[in-house]
Amino acid sequence: MTIHQNLIAGEWVGSTGSENVNPSDTNDIVGLYAQATADDVSQAIAAAKAAFPAWSRSGILERHAILKKTADEILARKQELGTLLSREEGKTLPEGIGEVTRAAQIFDFFAGETLRLAGEVLPSARPGIGVEITREPLGVIGIITPWNFPIAIPAWKIAPALCYGNTVVFKPAELVPGCSWAIVDILHRAGLPKGVLNLVMGPGSVVGQTMLDSPDIAGITFTGSTGTGKRVAAASIEHNRKFQLEMGGKNPMIVLDDADLGVAVEAAANSGFFSTGQRCTASSRLIVTEGIHDKFVDALTERMKSIQVGHALRPETHVGPVVDGRQLKQDTDYIEIGVKEGAKLAFGGERLERDTPGFFLQPTLFTEATNQMRISREEIFGPVVSLIRVKDYDEALAMANDTPFGLSAGIATTSLKYATHFKRNSEAGMVMVNLPTAGVDFHVPFGGRKASSFGPREQGKYAAEFFTVVKTAYTQA
Ligand code: NDP
Repeated sequence: MTIHQNLIAGEWVGSTGSENVNPSDTNDIVGLYAQATADDVSQAIAAAKAAFPAWSRSGILERHAILKKTADEILARKQELGTLLSREEGKTLPEGIGEVTRAAQIFDFFAGETLRLAGEVLPSARPGIGVEITREPLGVIGIITPWNFPIAIPAWKIAPALCYGNTVVFKPAELVPGCSWAIVDILHRAGLPKGVLNLVMGPGSVVGQTMLDSPDIAGITFTGSTGTGKRVAAASIEHNRKFQLEMGGKNPMIVLDDADLGVAVEAAANSGFFSTGQRCTASSRLIVTEGIHDKFVDALTERMKSIQVGHALRPETHVGPVVDGRQLKQDTDYIEIGVKEGAKLAFGGERLERDTPGFFLQPTLFTEATNQMRISREEIFGPVVSLIRVKDYDEALAMANDTPFGLSAGIATTSLKYATHFKRNSEAGMVMVNLPTAGVDFHVPFGGRKASSFGPREQGKYAAEFFTVVKTAYTQA
């Protein structure tokens, strides 16, 4: 098997590779991917630093052409890249192709943004003086990504970094390097100058940590767990470096008595169990008022019975496997914890055998849960949902906000009054009415509050907040 190498200073390097294993069938090795050493990472950072002066002054048409070409190639190869994504991460093929399409849309959006770079010209408070406010790139950006969106998250960090004139050292999650390697290959062939984008694959403890410890990285954008995010923050403060964190969630979805039952059930099933619940925006807490509670539980468990769990590439599959054995153990440990805490296992909870060796788990619903149980407070990151019964909207809202996290929150209701009140009073970065808490657009801000996020929003034109620094210049004519 050929090794997919790291890209450092415009050269493909690396001779030892680690296996990328398909979670639907552990006999299927997706490919071999190089492991960077600490020395390789230092060289990548030096290359990005050396490439910065020229790239930061490159013409907007050059940047536009590279990002547009990348978008076009990703889209043209969406079937092949979607299949790769499903093989390495375990999302179903439609989900994989959907994510690849989104990555193409993100590159397309930021290709457009290169043509819309602008500043402001203001009169000074002092006569005869002009003031210009411009945005400049930061320098070398370190990008560290998680395994659950192997192409969309790298895209929404790499595209704006390059659009605004930064150079990049990119470390994807070790579990899923395939899609990352593919988009770096596409960008490289699209004509990026040497050193502008460097790929360093390998474990976080070596590759990521070397990036955190480097004084030459001007900004780090990170998506992953709260624990690693705290390390990124501590190291960045040490180096006086800008940082942006997107971390976990324990997203509530409220279902009110007046909800359309079908809409509520579909939104809960979609955001609780699709993508195997491995989305930071998944609804893992359902907060249901007592008038609709029993009907909703019956309808949701009926819907869960129809969800086919299996090999991600099979057409009949609705939910693919858990990403690996370690995550599966975390999910089943939490299911045991839920039972011990006294929640009622209303559906699922069993590991499933299929005709290929993989990490298959039944979608799992706990009812009669409380908001104080660990299954309702800690991020499980699997297809495991707790359902909590409440008296009315006021109790539901208080409970939805009673969490350390604040990424996404939803409500199912036909009441304009409650929908409007919830949009205003939810303590989450993103609020959904009659929609799943997961599933967001590519051209508008993404991010949360409290322990879910730190720093400026990602995506859309708001991405400029992180990837640029503002300069104010005064001129006396
Ligand atoms: P981790 O925090 O374990 O890993 C995230 C990235 O950090 C990986 O690339 C990892 O490398 C790297 N890393 C690990 N240790 C270090 C270190 N010491 N220094 C620098 N980098 C390091 O998260 P997961 O990949 O397990 O992702 C799941 C988590 O991500 C969930 O908690 C989920 O909620 C969150 N997430 C949040 C999103 C959001 O936008 N809010 C979106 C998607 C996921 P390696 O893979 O080699 O370990």
